[in-house]
Amino acid sequence: MKAFTNANPRDLPHALTLIQQAHSSGQHASIAGGGSDLLGMIKERIVEPDVVVNLKAIKGLDQIFTYKHGPGLKIGGLATLDSITRHQVIRRQYAVLAEAADSVATPQIRNVGTLAGNVCQRPWCWYFRNGFPCYKAGGNQCFSITGENQFHAIFGGGPSFIVHPSDTAPALVALDAKFHIAGPKGERTATLSEFFVLPRQNAARENSLAPDEVLVAVAIPSAHPGTRSAYHKVMDREAWTHAVVSAAIVLDMDKDVCRSARIVLGGVAPIPWRVPDAERVLTGQRITPELAAKAGEIAVAEAKPLAKNAYKVPLTKAVVRRTVLQLAQRA
Ligand SMILES: Cc1cc2nc3c(=O)[nH]c(=O)nc-3n(C[C@H](O)[C@H](O)[C@H](O)COP(=O)(O)OP(=O)(O)OC[C@H]3O[C@@H](n4cnc5c(N)ncnc54)[C@H](O)[C@@H]3O)c2cc1C
Ligand code: SF4
Repeated sequence: MKAFTNANPRDLPHALTLIQQAHSSGQHASIAGGGSDLLGMIKERIVEPDVVVNLKAIKGLDQIFTYKHGPGLKIGGLATLDSITRHQVIRRQYAVLAEAADSVATPQIRNVGTLAGNVCQRPWCWYFRNGFPCYKAGGNQCFSITGENQFHAIFGGGPSFIVHPSDTAPALVALDAKFHIAGPKGERTATLSEFFVLPRQNAARENSLAPDEVLVAVAIPSAHPGTRSAYHKVMDREAWTHAVVSAAIVLDMDKDVCRSARIVLGGVAPIPWRVPDAERVLTGQRITPELAAKAGEIAVAEAKPLAKNAYKVPLTKAVVRRTVLQLAQRA
């Protein structure tokens, strides 16, 4: 492990100054939330910062605010996954997010892991994490195409075929969240399509954050009465691991008729993967087992599996069908 300096800024402007000072003196600065992922990557020399800017001491960045109007919910980037899981309003009105946060890793990681760190975590592709010089490491090839691709993308792949590793990201997309970002030029807000980037847009990165920008908060619009949501995650072992396939689904229901739907898949694409055609088939309809099955079929219509991950296609179909039906039948 390369030696680095640990910096503990007192507030956000101080953090941004420290990051900028490092960059302007030719040093590499990394941002740490809980540090649970970053420190592992530093130990494995996947990243080699000169300075780690630790946001943990900044007061207020871990707060969760609820509002009656406008953004129903604003969650500070430093809020821990555990605090999101236990928050009563999130559990009641934004269940998909509470369930997604609760499905992450272990209780120990959820205690220290932050929402921003979870959304910004780097890919867990075996090749990248083991130091192969692939696109994600600044190289110009992908080893998974002809190698081990059991856990890779069936949608949106190329030239990298990673799957986005975060459980909370599909839930945030399903809830139509906006990302609040601070940088040297002030604050900006990014919609989901501006925040997450496909490898064909930038093969080395998963989001549009510049190296000197900090994800400070996530804002979620208030939920309509009648909104039901759920996160369903399939893993290759019983617990404490990333999704092989997941679905974050939000249905706005008028009794048993679906007014609108948002269906976002995890574990299957380099970004949280929305399936608008499957959403449209539910809109304005009474949800029956047949309709839920049709939504599952449509959700995978564009899938392009690799040599070893075709099993994800029927799995995705089943996860969508089952989650839609369970939500529709929920009183
Ligand atoms: C055994 C194991 C199992 C896991 N299982 C799952 C799982 O099932 N589901 C899942 O979603 N994740 C899983 N993870 C990943 C885990 O959730 C993340 O490591 C954790 O959520 C990261 O949070 P953190 O605050 O500690 O991030 P950090 O380690 O602090 O940061 C992670 C990344 O985000 C960047 N970052 C952090 N905060 C900010 C910010 N505010 N602005 C900009 N960039 C920032 C860092 O620079 C770094 O690149 C697992 C990890 C392990 C080790
Ligand atoms: S899928 Fe992405 S991270 Fe994995 S080897 Fe290919 S380029 Fe690297």
